[in-house]
Amino acid sequence: LVSLYNAFSKYLVSLYTRMLSVKKILEKEEISRDEIITLLSASNKEDIDCLLKTAYAVKEKYVGRKVYLRGLIELSNICKKNCLYCGIRSGNTKVTRYDMTDDEVLDVIEFAKANNFSSVVLQSGELCNEKFSKRITGLLKKIKSVTNENFRVTLSLGEQTEKTYREWFNAGAQRYLLRIESSDKNLYSKLHPNNKLHDYDERLNCLHTLKKIGYQVGTGVMIGLPFQTIENLADDLLFMKNFDIDMVGMGPYLEHEDTPLYEFKGDLLPLKNRFNLSLRMIAILRILMKDINIASTTALQSIDPMGRERGLKAGANVIMPNLTPGAQRKNYLLYENKPCIDDNADECIDCIGKRVGMIGEEIAQDYGDSLHYKKRQL
Ligand code: SAH
Ligand code: SF4
Repeated sequence: LVSLYNAFSKYLVSLYTRMLSVKKILEKEEISRDEIITLLSASNKEDIDCLLKTAYAVKEKYVGRKVYLRGLIELSNICKKNCLYCGIRSGNTKVTRYDMTDDEVLDVIEFAKANNFSSVVLQSGELCNEKFSKRITGLLKKIKSVTNENFRVTLSLGEQTEKTYREWFNAGAQRYLLRIESSDKNLYSKLHPNNKLHDYDERLNCLHTLKKIGYQVGTGVMIGLPFQTIENLADDLLFMKNFDIDMVGMGPYLEHEDTPLYEFKGDLLPLKNRFNLSLRMIAILRILMKDINIASTTALQSIDPMGRERGLKAGANVIMPNLTPGAQRKNYLLYENKPCIDDNADECIDCIGKRVGMIGEEIAQDYGDSLHYKKRQL
């Protein structure tokens, strides 16, 4: 009995010390790299709850209990790159390639407007040539002509030349999303073929160019990648803070059978751990960067049906409902088990309002420029 008592009191003391350290860290103004690592490694429920609650309080205070919707339009799955993790990489010959026409995109824009969306994201595989760049410029002008000044377009079309980025900015795109994927150059090189088309410095350079031009700049990383360490993730968060980004989209890495990285499937964290780690990444980032826009990504929802809501509860304030028409949607599989592949857009939107209401939040009516960006402009 005495030894049982001793073991129990030892457990209570260790629990108390750990709680104290996580709690103490969360009370600090500045959080160090080591402390971020402690937060990311927290494994007991009380610690994790404390982290998520603190992040939610920061979110409430700085950006409110509001969810911004961005309608995602997956323009095309044609890609010249061959990222080792991605299901639509050029090397995957099993994919049926498509390219939406401008009219198809404009139909989706009409649908978005009719459903009170004031923002869309145009995303696609990466093509970097004159024809593609002109085509997007033309499309942006058409979108501008059918929307008003209260509408925002985000582009997520990969690495481009400064000239192209400028042209698109001038044609009406205000925001750009380009994930760094991993801020660690060495890890980046393990996730991509080693050639000029997949160069870390080039990607980083693009982020600088986007900022210089005046875009609201978003980046992000995948979480739970093969070879990735907790230290890498802590550095990813510090990278985002030091780069002073305006928006973030980050989520769990999800393996795809027809990609080279699938070979390392056996070394990955279980899905549940990748999910929990992603929530912690969101929460810590919200604490580090109080007024940025953080997306609760679709990849979270692929693991847990309530994944997006849980992302919002961890500090995210943006969701990106997929508005890509069903016919194309099934061919834009970046990873396995992508949700809503069979749904049509209407069903998804209907449930989103209810789901957001369930967690005590509401869908924001304005277009939600990053508050951080606005401050940066002052
Ligand atoms: N071609 C553009 C945009 C489309 S890809 C680009 O690469 O920037 C959009 C994002 O999908 C990528 O940035 C990557 O982070 C994510 N992605 C690709 N494959 C993934 C996978 N297997 N698991 C999770 N996210 C993935
Ligand atoms: Fe192409 Fe983007 Fe996929 Fe890389 S992540 S293969 S650039 S679509």
